[in-house]
Amino acid sequence: MIRIHGWGNFPSIDSEVFSPKSLTASSDLITNINNLIPRGFGRSYGDSANSKKILQSNYLNRFISFDHENGILICDSGLSINEILSLIVPRGWFIPVAPGTSFVSVGGAIASDVHGKNHHHQGCFSDHLLSFELMLADGSITQVSRSHLPDLFQATCGGMGLTGFIVSASIQLIPIKSSQIIQSLVKCGSLEEVCDQFYINRDKTYSVAWIDCLSSGKNFGRSVLMVGEHSESGKLSVSKKAPINIPFNMPASLLNSYSIRLFNSIYYHSSSTQSDMNISYEKFFYPLDGIRNWNRLYGKAGFIQYQFVIPMAVGIDGLKKILVKIVDSGLGSFLAVLKCFGLANANYLSFPMEGFTLALDFKLSDSVIKLVSNLDPMVVDMGGRIYLTKDALMNDTTFKSCYPLWENFEQVRAKYGAIGKFSSIQSKRLGLQ
Ligand SMILES: Cc1cc2nc3c(=O)[nH]c(=O)nc-3n(C[C@H](O)[C@H](O)[C@H](O)COP(=O)(O)OP(=O)(O)OC[C@H]3O[C@@H](n4cnc5c(N)ncnc54)[C@H](O)[C@@H]3O)c2cc1C
Repeated sequence: MIRIHGWGNFPSIDSEVFSPKSLTASSDLITNINNLIPRGFGRSYGDSANSKKILQSNYLNRFISFDHENGILICDSGLSINEILSLIVPRGWFIPVAPGTSFVSVGGAIASDVHGKNHHHQGCFSDHLLSFELMLADGSITQVSRSHLPDLFQATCGGMGLTGFIVSASIQLIPIKSSQIIQSLVKCGSLEEVCDQFYINRDKTYSVAWIDCLSSGKNFGRSVLMVGEHSESGKLSVSKKAPINIPFNMPASLLNSYSIRLFNSIYYHSSSTQSDMNISYEKFFYPLDGIRNWNRLYGKAGFIQYQFVIPMAVGIDGLKKILVKIVDSGLGSFLAVLKCFGLANANYLSFPMEGFTLALDFKLSDSVIKLVSNLDPMVVDMGGRIYLTKDALMNDTTFKSCYPLWENFEQVRAKYGAIGKFSSIQSKRLGLQ
Protein backbone atom coordinates (compact mmCIF):
# COMPACT_ATOMS: atom_id res chain seq x y z
CA MET A 1 0.00 0.00 0.00
CA ILE A 2 1.22 3.50 -0.86
CA ARG A 3 -0.22 6.82 0.29
CA ILE A 4 -1.54 8.45 -2.88
CA HIS A 5 -2.70 12.00 -3.51
CA GLY A 6 -3.04 14.43 -6.37
CA TRP A 7 -0.98 17.56 -7.01
CA GLY A 8 -2.84 19.45 -4.26
CA ASN A 9 -1.79 16.82 -1.65
CA PHE A 10 -5.46 16.57 -0.67
CA PRO A 11 -7.19 14.18 -0.22
CA SER A 12 -4.89 11.18 0.20
CA ILE A 13 -5.62 7.49 0.44
CA ASP A 14 -3.72 4.22 0.95
CA SER A 15 -3.74 2.49 -2.42
CA GLU A 16 -2.50 -0.62 -4.10
CA VAL A 17 -0.58 0.64 -7.13
CA PHE A 18 -0.21 -1.66 -10.11
CA SER A 19 2.51 -0.92 -12.69
CA PRO A 20 2.13 -3.73 -15.23
CA LYS A 21 5.06 -4.10 -17.61
CA SER A 22 3.11 -5.17 -20.69
CA LEU A 23 -0.25 -4.86 -22.37
CA THR A 24 -0.99 -8.50 -21.58
CA ALA A 25 -0.32 -7.87 -17.89
CA SER A 26 -2.55 -4.75 -17.99
CA SER A 27 -5.28 -6.72 -19.68
CA ASP A 28 -5.08 -9.50 -17.06
CA LEU A 29 -5.24 -6.92 -14.31
CA ILE A 30 -8.24 -5.11 -15.77
CA THR A 31 -10.10 -8.36 -16.28
CA ASN A 32 -9.50 -9.53 -12.74
CA ILE A 33 -9.75 -6.40 -10.61
CA ASN A 34 -12.68 -4.04 -10.12
CA ASN A 35 -12.80 -0.36 -9.20
CA LEU A 36 -9.46 0.49 -10.76
CA ILE A 37 -8.48 3.96 -11.87
CA PRO A 38 -5.82 4.69 -14.50
CA ARG A 39 -3.13 7.16 -13.44
CA GLY A 40 -0.45 9.09 -15.31
CA PHE A 41 1.75 11.69 -13.59
CA GLY A 42 -0.72 12.59 -10.81
CA ARG A 43 -0.82 16.25 -11.91
CA SER A 44 -4.58 16.41 -11.44
CA TYR A 45 -5.09 18.38 -8.24
CA GLY A 46 -7.79 16.45 -6.38
CA ASP A 47 -8.90 12.83 -6.31
CA SER A 48 -9.69 12.02 -9.94
CA ALA A 49 -6.66 9.72 -10.20
CA ASN A 50 -7.13 8.27 -6.69
CA SER A 51 -8.68 4.98 -5.81
CA LYS A 52 -7.83 2.02 -3.58
CA LYS A 53 -6.57 0.34 -6.76
CA ILE A 54 -4.50 2.30 -9.24
CA LEU A 55 -3.34 1.31 -12.72
CA GLN A 56 -0.21 3.26 -13.64
CA SER A 57 0.57 4.03 -17.29
CA ASN A 58 4.31 4.57 -16.74
CA TYR A 59 5.48 1.51 -18.72
CA LEU A 60 3.69 2.89 -21.77
CA ASN A 61 6.55 5.20 -22.72
CA ARG A 62 7.37 4.59 -26.38
CA PHE A 63 7.21 6.81 -29.42
CA ILE A 64 5.49 4.60 -31.98
CA SER A 65 5.82 6.69 -35.15
CA PHE A 66 6.42 10.28 -36.20
CA ASP A 67 5.44 11.52 -39.65
CA HIS A 68 7.84 14.52 -40.00
CA GLU A 69 6.19 15.72 -43.18
CA ASN A 70 2.67 15.98 -41.84
CA GLY A 71 3.28 16.36 -38.10
CA ILE A 72 1.43 13.23 -37.03
CA LEU A 73 2.75 11.64 -33.87
CA ILE A 74 1.66 8.23 -32.61
CA CYS A 75 2.86 7.46 -29.09
CA ASP A 76 2.11 5.57 -25.91
CA SER A 77 -0.21 7.17 -23.37
CA GLY A 78 2.36 7.23 -20.55
CA LEU A 79 4.73 9.62 -22.34
CA SER A 80 4.79 13.16 -20.99
CA ILE A 81 4.24 16.30 -23.01
CA ASN A 82 7.75 17.25 -21.90
CA GLU A 83 9.24 14.15 -23.56
CA ILE A 84 7.17 14.77 -26.68
CA LEU A 85 8.36 18.38 -26.94
CA SER A 86 11.99 17.25 -26.67
CA LEU A 87 11.45 15.14 -29.77
CA ILE A 88 9.26 17.39 -31.90
CA VAL A 89 10.44 20.97 -31.23
CA PRO A 90 13.90 20.51 -32.82
CA ARG A 91 12.07 19.11 -35.87
CA GLY A 92 9.79 22.14 -36.21
CA TRP A 93 6.58 20.88 -34.61
CA PHE A 94 4.67 21.76 -31.45
CA ILE A 95 1.77 20.33 -29.48
CA PRO A 96 -1.51 21.97 -30.52
CA VAL A 97 -2.70 22.47 -26.92
CA ALA A 98 -0.29 23.03 -24.03
CA PRO A 99 -1.60 22.88 -20.44
CA GLY A 100 0.26 24.86 -17.73
CA THR A 101 2.71 22.06 -16.93
CA SER A 102 4.58 19.78 -19.32
CA PHE A 103 4.63 16.94 -16.76
CA VAL A 104 1.30 15.62 -17.96
CA SER A 105 0.89 12.24 -19.65
CA VAL A 106 -0.86 11.86 -22.99
CA GLY A 107 -3.46 9.65 -21.26
CA GLY A 108 -4.04 12.33 -18.61
CA ALA A 109 -4.31 15.05 -21.28
CA ILE A 110 -7.02 13.05 -23.08
CA ALA A 111 -8.89 11.94 -19.95
CA SER A 112 -9.06 15.54 -18.67
CA ASP A 113 -9.45 16.94 -22.21
CA VAL A 114 -6.99 19.65 -21.21
CA HIS A 115 -6.98 23.18 -22.58
CA GLY A 116 -4.22 25.74 -22.99
CA LYS A 117 -3.82 29.47 -23.48
CA ASN A 118 -5.17 29.08 -27.02
CA HIS A 119 -8.56 27.53 -26.33
CA HIS A 120 -10.29 30.42 -28.14
CA HIS A 121 -8.57 29.27 -31.36
CA GLN A 122 -7.64 25.62 -30.95
CA GLY A 123 -10.12 24.14 -28.47
CA CYS A 124 -9.08 21.22 -26.29
CA PHE A 125 -6.49 18.46 -26.61
CA SER A 126 -9.08 16.03 -27.98
CA ASP A 127 -9.87 18.39 -30.85
CA HIS A 128 -6.45 17.45 -32.30
CA LEU A 129 -6.62 13.73 -31.72
CA LEU A 130 -6.87 11.60 -34.81
CA SER A 131 -7.56 8.45 -32.81
CA PHE A 132 -6.54 6.56 -29.69
CA GLU A 133 -6.42 2.99 -28.46
CA LEU A 134 -8.49 2.15 -25.41
CA MET A 135 -8.30 -0.96 -23.27
CA LEU A 136 -11.86 -1.78 -22.28
CA ALA A 137 -13.24 -3.47 -19.18
CA ASP A 138 -12.90 -6.93 -20.75
CA GLY A 139 -9.18 -6.35 -21.39
CA SER A 140 -9.55 -5.98 -25.18
CA ILE A 141 -8.05 -3.02 -27.03
CA THR A 142 -10.15 -1.00 -29.43
CA GLN A 143 -9.33 1.87 -31.80
CA VAL A 144 -11.48 4.96 -31.11
CA SER A 145 -11.92 8.09 -33.20
CA ARG A 146 -14.56 10.67 -34.03
CA SER A 147 -15.89 8.42 -36.78
CA HIS A 148 -15.27 4.99 -35.23
CA LEU A 149 -17.17 4.51 -31.93
CA PRO A 150 -17.94 8.23 -31.61
CA ASP A 151 -19.85 7.70 -28.36
CA LEU A 152 -16.74 6.19 -26.78
CA PHE A 153 -14.65 9.07 -28.11
CA GLN A 154 -17.00 11.64 -26.57
CA ALA A 155 -17.11 9.80 -23.25
CA THR A 156 -13.38 9.09 -22.96
CA CYS A 157 -12.11 12.58 -23.87
CA GLY A 158 -12.76 14.42 -20.62
CA GLY A 159 -14.06 11.18 -19.05
CA MET A 160 -11.49 11.13 -16.23
CA GLY A 161 -10.34 7.56 -16.80
CA LEU A 162 -13.80 6.11 -16.19
CA THR A 163 -14.35 4.44 -19.58
CA GLY A 164 -11.11 2.47 -19.88
CA PHE A 165 -7.32 2.60 -20.01
CA ILE A 166 -5.93 4.77 -22.84
CA VAL A 167 -3.00 2.91 -24.35
CA SER A 168 -1.76 5.09 -27.20
CA ALA A 169 -2.81 8.10 -29.25
CA SER A 170 -2.36 9.65 -32.67
CA ILE A 171 -1.98 13.42 -32.41
CA GLN A 172 -1.97 16.09 -35.13
CA LEU A 173 0.83 18.56 -34.26
CA ILE A 174 1.21 22.18 -35.38
CA PRO A 175 4.21 23.48 -37.35
CA ILE A 176 6.59 26.06 -35.83
CA LYS A 177 9.57 27.92 -37.25
CA SER A 178 11.19 28.72 -33.90
CA SER A 179 11.05 27.56 -30.30
CA GLN A 180 10.79 31.19 -29.19
CA ILE A 181 7.54 32.91 -28.29
CA ILE A 182 6.96 36.61 -28.85
CA GLN A 183 5.30 37.73 -25.65
CA SER A 184 3.58 41.03 -24.88
CA LEU A 185 2.32 42.15 -21.47
CA VAL A 186 -0.61 44.49 -20.88
CA LYS A 187 -1.02 45.89 -17.39
CA CYS A 188 -4.72 46.38 -16.56
CA GLY A 189 -6.12 48.42 -13.66
CA SER A 190 -9.49 46.69 -13.39
CA LEU A 191 -11.55 43.65 -14.31
CA GLU A 192 -13.34 45.58 -17.07
CA GLU A 193 -10.01 46.58 -18.56
CA VAL A 194 -8.59 43.05 -18.63
CA CYS A 195 -11.80 41.67 -20.17
CA ASP A 196 -11.64 44.41 -22.82
CA GLN A 197 -8.02 43.51 -23.47
CA PHE A 198 -8.92 39.85 -23.97
CA TYR A 199 -11.39 41.03 -26.62
CA ILE A 200 -8.94 43.44 -28.27
CA ASN A 201 -6.32 40.66 -28.39
CA ARG A 202 -8.71 37.93 -29.49
CA ASP A 203 -6.75 37.29 -32.71
CA LYS A 204 -3.58 36.52 -30.75
CA THR A 205 -2.82 32.81 -30.60
CA TYR A 206 -2.20 32.65 -26.86
CA SER A 207 -3.63 34.78 -24.06
CA VAL A 208 -3.89 34.46 -20.30
CA ALA A 209 -4.05 36.91 -17.39
CA TRP A 210 -2.76 36.89 -13.84
CA ILE A 211 -5.26 38.57 -11.56
CA ASP A 212 -4.85 39.96 -8.03
CA CYS A 213 -7.69 38.39 -6.08
CA LEU A 214 -6.95 39.95 -2.70
CA SER A 215 -7.19 43.64 -3.50
CA SER A 216 -10.42 45.55 -3.17
CA GLY A 217 -11.43 49.19 -3.73
CA LYS A 218 -9.57 50.97 -6.51
CA ASN A 219 -7.25 47.97 -7.03
CA PHE A 220 -10.09 45.45 -7.45
CA GLY A 221 -9.45 43.17 -10.41
CA ARG A 222 -6.04 44.57 -11.32
CA SER A 223 -4.31 42.15 -13.65
CA VAL A 224 -1.56 41.55 -16.14
CA LEU A 225 -2.54 40.05 -19.50
CA MET A 226 0.08 38.00 -21.34
CA VAL A 227 -0.31 37.35 -25.03
CA GLY A 228 1.97 35.33 -27.25
CA GLU A 229 2.70 34.14 -30.77
CA HIS A 230 5.17 31.58 -32.07
CA SER A 231 8.16 33.48 -33.43
CA GLU A 232 8.82 33.22 -37.15
CA SER A 233 12.60 33.15 -36.72
CA GLY A 234 15.22 31.80 -34.34
CA LYS A 235 16.49 28.41 -33.25
CA LEU A 236 14.46 25.26 -32.73
CA SER A 237 15.94 24.34 -29.35
CA VAL A 238 14.87 22.73 -26.09
CA SER A 239 16.19 23.93 -22.72
CA LYS A 240 18.26 21.48 -20.69
CA LYS A 241 18.11 23.56 -17.49
CA ALA A 242 17.52 21.45 -14.36
CA PRO A 243 14.61 22.64 -12.23
CA ILE A 244 15.06 23.95 -8.68
CA ASN A 245 13.62 21.53 -6.11
CA ILE A 246 11.46 22.24 -3.03
CA PRO A 247 12.83 19.38 -0.89
CA PHE A 248 10.05 19.10 1.73
CA ASN A 249 6.69 20.54 2.73
CA MET A 250 7.06 24.15 3.83
CA PRO A 251 5.56 25.39 7.10
CA ALA A 252 1.92 26.12 6.32
CA SER A 253 2.22 29.56 7.90
CA LEU A 254 4.56 30.73 5.12
CA LEU A 255 1.71 31.38 2.73
CA ASN A 256 -0.86 33.63 4.35
CA SER A 257 -2.96 36.56 3.22
CA TYR A 258 -0.11 39.00 4.12
CA SER A 259 2.59 37.20 2.15
CA ILE A 260 0.24 36.72 -0.80
CA ARG A 261 -0.87 40.37 -0.68
CA LEU A 262 2.80 41.36 -0.70
CA PHE A 263 3.56 39.03 -3.60
CA ASN A 264 0.58 40.34 -5.57
CA SER A 265 1.60 43.94 -5.00
CA ILE A 266 5.24 43.31 -5.99
CA TYR A 267 4.19 41.31 -9.05
CA TYR A 268 1.73 43.94 -10.23
CA HIS A 269 4.03 46.91 -9.67
CA SER A 270 7.08 45.20 -11.18
CA SER A 271 5.14 44.34 -14.35
CA SER A 272 4.86 46.90 -17.08
CA THR A 273 3.13 46.99 -20.43
CA GLN A 274 5.74 45.67 -22.85
CA SER A 275 5.58 44.48 -26.44
CA ASP A 276 7.29 41.80 -28.43
CA MET A 277 9.73 40.20 -26.00
CA ASN A 278 11.37 37.03 -27.28
CA ILE A 279 11.22 34.28 -24.67
CA SER A 280 11.64 30.52 -24.73
CA TYR A 281 8.53 28.39 -25.04
CA GLU A 282 9.40 26.83 -21.67
CA LYS A 283 9.28 30.23 -19.97
CA PHE A 284 6.03 31.18 -21.67
CA PHE A 285 4.08 27.94 -21.19
CA TYR A 286 5.69 26.33 -18.17
CA PRO A 287 7.08 28.91 -15.72
CA LEU A 288 6.21 26.66 -12.77
CA ASP A 289 8.01 23.63 -14.19
CA GLY A 290 11.25 25.41 -13.24
CA ILE A 291 10.46 24.64 -9.57
CA ARG A 292 10.06 20.93 -8.96
CA ASN A 293 7.54 20.06 -6.20
CA TRP A 294 6.33 23.65 -5.85
CA ASN A 295 3.13 22.17 -4.41
CA ARG A 296 5.10 21.65 -1.16
CA LEU A 297 5.03 25.42 -0.64
CA TYR A 298 1.46 25.01 0.62
CA GLY A 299 2.50 22.80 3.54
CA LYS A 300 1.47 19.36 4.66
CA ALA A 301 -2.28 19.95 4.72
CA GLY A 302 -2.22 20.67 1.00
CA PHE A 303 -4.23 22.99 -1.17
CA ILE A 304 -6.98 22.97 -3.72
CA GLN A 305 -7.22 24.58 -7.09
CA TYR A 306 -10.69 25.91 -7.75
CA GLN A 307 -11.31 26.45 -11.46
CA PHE A 308 -14.68 27.40 -12.83
CA VAL A 309 -16.01 28.74 -16.12
CA ILE A 310 -19.05 30.96 -16.57
CA PRO A 311 -20.73 31.64 -19.92
CA MET A 312 -19.96 34.78 -21.89
CA ALA A 313 -23.61 35.87 -21.45
CA VAL A 314 -23.06 36.46 -17.71
CA GLY A 315 -19.58 37.75 -18.49
CA ILE A 316 -17.96 40.48 -16.45
CA ASP A 317 -20.91 40.96 -14.08
CA GLY A 318 -20.86 37.28 -13.12
CA LEU A 319 -17.11 37.28 -12.76
CA LYS A 320 -17.28 40.38 -10.59
CA LYS A 321 -19.84 38.80 -8.21
CA ILE A 322 -17.66 35.73 -7.71
CA LEU A 323 -14.47 37.75 -7.37
CA VAL A 324 -16.09 40.03 -4.76
CA LYS A 325 -16.96 36.93 -2.72
CA ILE A 326 -13.35 35.72 -2.97
CA VAL A 327 -11.83 39.11 -2.13
CA ASP A 328 -14.23 39.52 0.82
CA SER A 329 -13.22 36.12 2.17
CA GLY A 330 -9.64 37.42 2.52
CA LEU A 331 -8.45 33.94 1.51
CA GLY A 332 -5.52 34.61 -0.71
CA SER A 333 -4.65 32.82 -3.87
CA PHE A 334 -1.07 33.10 -5.01
CA LEU A 335 -1.89 31.87 -8.41
CA ALA A 336 -5.03 33.31 -9.95
CA VAL A 337 -5.33 32.83 -13.67
CA LEU A 338 -8.02 34.22 -15.93
CA LYS A 339 -8.65 32.96 -19.46
CA CYS A 340 -11.24 33.50 -22.11
CA PHE A 341 -12.52 30.26 -23.67
CA GLY A 342 -13.88 29.68 -27.16
CA LEU A 343 -16.71 27.30 -28.04
CA ALA A 344 -17.32 24.04 -26.17
CA ASN A 345 -16.78 20.71 -27.94
CA ALA A 346 -19.20 17.77 -27.98
CA ASN A 347 -17.54 15.59 -25.33
CA TYR A 348 -19.86 14.72 -22.46
CA LEU A 349 -17.66 15.90 -19.58
CA SER A 350 -15.23 18.36 -21.20
CA PHE A 351 -14.86 21.45 -19.10
CA PRO A 352 -14.48 24.47 -21.41
CA MET A 353 -17.48 26.46 -22.68
CA GLU A 354 -17.47 29.89 -24.31
CA GLY A 355 -16.88 32.32 -21.46
CA PHE A 356 -14.44 33.31 -18.74
CA THR A 357 -12.55 30.81 -16.62
CA LEU A 358 -10.77 31.62 -13.39
CA ALA A 359 -8.38 29.22 -11.60
CA LEU A 360 -7.35 29.92 -8.02
CA ASP A 361 -5.09 28.07 -5.58
CA PHE A 362 -6.16 28.06 -1.93
CA LYS A 363 -4.25 26.59 0.99
CA LEU A 364 -6.65 24.07 2.50
CA SER A 365 -8.62 25.15 5.57
CA ASP A 366 -12.19 24.97 6.89
CA SER A 367 -12.73 28.54 5.65
CA VAL A 368 -11.69 27.53 2.14
CA ILE A 369 -14.05 24.56 2.16
CA LYS A 370 -16.83 26.92 3.26
CA LEU A 371 -15.93 29.47 0.60
CA VAL A 372 -16.02 26.81 -2.12
CA SER A 373 -19.42 25.59 -0.91
CA ASN A 374 -20.67 29.16 -1.32
CA LEU A 375 -19.07 29.62 -4.75
CA ASP A 376 -20.35 26.35 -6.27
CA PRO A 377 -24.05 27.39 -6.30
CA MET A 378 -23.13 30.78 -7.74
CA VAL A 379 -21.29 29.10 -10.62
CA VAL A 380 -24.20 26.70 -11.20
CA ASP A 381 -26.79 29.53 -11.12
CA MET A 382 -24.79 31.37 -13.76
CA GLY A 383 -24.85 28.28 -16.01
CA GLY A 384 -21.17 27.55 -15.47
CA ARG A 385 -19.18 24.52 -14.35
CA ILE A 386 -16.25 23.42 -12.23
CA TYR A 387 -13.22 21.67 -13.73
CA LEU A 388 -13.13 17.98 -12.77
CA THR A 389 -9.36 17.60 -13.01
CA LYS A 390 -8.88 20.30 -10.37
CA ASP A 391 -11.82 19.37 -8.16
CA ALA A 392 -11.59 17.76 -4.73
CA LEU A 393 -14.76 19.02 -3.06
CA MET A 394 -17.74 19.24 -5.44
CA ASN A 395 -20.91 17.35 -4.44
CA ASP A 396 -23.02 15.19 -6.76
CA THR A 397 -25.84 17.76 -7.08
CA THR A 398 -23.43 20.43 -8.26
CA PHE A 399 -21.74 17.99 -10.64
CA LYS A 400 -25.00 16.87 -12.22
CA SER A 401 -26.13 20.49 -12.68
CA CYS A 402 -22.79 21.54 -14.17
CA TYR A 403 -22.49 18.57 -16.50
CA PRO A 404 -26.00 17.90 -17.85
CA LEU A 405 -24.68 15.20 -20.24
CA TRP A 406 -23.59 13.02 -17.31
CA GLU A 407 -26.40 10.54 -18.06
CA ASN A 408 -25.17 10.07 -21.65
CA PHE A 409 -21.74 9.49 -20.14
CA GLU A 410 -23.10 6.81 -17.80
CA GLN A 411 -24.97 5.13 -20.68
CA VAL A 412 -21.74 4.81 -22.66
CA ARG A 413 -19.92 3.46 -19.61
CA ALA A 414 -22.68 0.89 -19.14
CA LYS A 415 -22.59 -0.07 -22.84
CA TYR A 416 -18.84 -0.83 -22.70
CA GLY A 417 -18.90 -2.55 -19.31
CA ALA A 418 -16.95 0.19 -17.51
CA ILE A 419 -19.32 0.53 -14.55
CA GLY A 420 -17.88 -1.23 -11.51
CA LYS A 421 -14.60 -1.75 -13.37
CA PHE A 422 -13.27 1.82 -13.39
CA SER A 423 -13.98 4.22 -10.54
CA SER A 424 -12.17 6.85 -8.49
CA ILE A 425 -12.69 8.54 -5.16
CA GLN A 426 -13.94 11.49 -7.19
CA SER A 427 -16.40 9.49 -9.33
CA LYS A 428 -17.97 8.02 -6.18
CA ARG A 429 -18.25 11.46 -4.57
CA LEU A 430 -19.92 12.76 -7.74
CA GLY A 431 -22.56 10.05 -7.68
CA LEU A 432 -21.32 8.17 -10.75
CA GLN A 433 -21.82 4.43 -10.67
C1 LIG B 1 0.95 23.30 -12.58
C2 LIG B 1 -0.22 22.73 -13.30
C3 LIG B 1 -0.78 23.43 -14.34
C4 LIG B 1 -1.87 22.92 -15.04
N1 LIG B 1 -2.39 23.65 -16.05
C5 LIG B 1 -3.44 23.17 -16.76
C6 LIG B 1 -3.98 23.91 -17.84
O1 LIG B 1 -3.50 24.99 -18.20
N2 LIG B 1 -5.03 23.37 -18.51
C7 LIG B 1 -5.57 22.16 -18.16
O2 LIG B 1 -6.53 21.74 -18.80
N3 LIG B 1 -5.08 21.43 -17.13
C8 LIG B 1 -4.03 21.92 -16.42
N4 LIG B 1 -3.51 21.18 -15.39
C9 LIG B 1 -4.12 19.89 -15.05
C10 LIG B 1 -3.47 18.72 -15.80
O3 LIG B 1 -3.23 19.06 -17.13
C11 LIG B 1 -4.45 17.53 -15.80
O4 LIG B 1 -4.79 17.20 -14.49
C12 LIG B 1 -3.88 16.27 -16.47
O5 LIG B 1 -4.89 15.33 -16.60
C13 LIG B 1 -2.73 15.66 -15.66
O6 LIG B 1 -2.17 14.58 -16.36
P1 LIG B 1 -1.55 13.36 -15.56
O7 LIG B 1 -0.83 12.48 -16.51
O8 LIG B 1 -0.77 13.87 -14.39
O9 LIG B 1 -2.88 12.64 -15.09
P2 LIG B 1 -3.33 12.12 -13.65
O10 LIG B 1 -3.39 13.26 -12.71
O11 LIG B 1 -2.53 10.95 -13.28
O12 LIG B 1 -4.83 11.69 -14.00
C14 LIG B 1 -5.78 12.65 -14.35
C15 LIG B 1 -7.03 11.94 -14.92
O13 LIG B 1 -6.67 11.26 -16.12
C16 LIG B 1 -6.96 9.87 -16.02
N5 LIG B 1 -5.91 9.13 -16.75
C17 LIG B 1 -4.57 9.30 -16.65
N6 LIG B 1 -3.94 8.44 -17.47
C18 LIG B 1 -4.90 7.73 -18.11
C19 LIG B 1 -4.88 6.67 -19.08
N7 LIG B 1 -3.74 6.17 -19.57
N8 LIG B 1 -6.07 6.18 -19.48
C20 LIG B 1 -7.24 6.66 -19.01
N9 LIG B 1 -7.32 7.66 -18.11
C21 LIG B 1 -6.15 8.18 -17.66
C22 LIG B 1 -6.98 9.58 -14.54
O14 LIG B 1 -7.80 8.45 -14.24
C23 LIG B 1 -7.54 10.87 -13.97
O15 LIG B 1 -8.94 10.85 -14.03
C24 LIG B 1 -2.43 21.66 -14.67
C25 LIG B 1 -1.85 20.93 -13.60
C26 LIG B 1 -0.75 21.45 -12.93
C27 LIG B 1 -0.16 20.67 -11.80
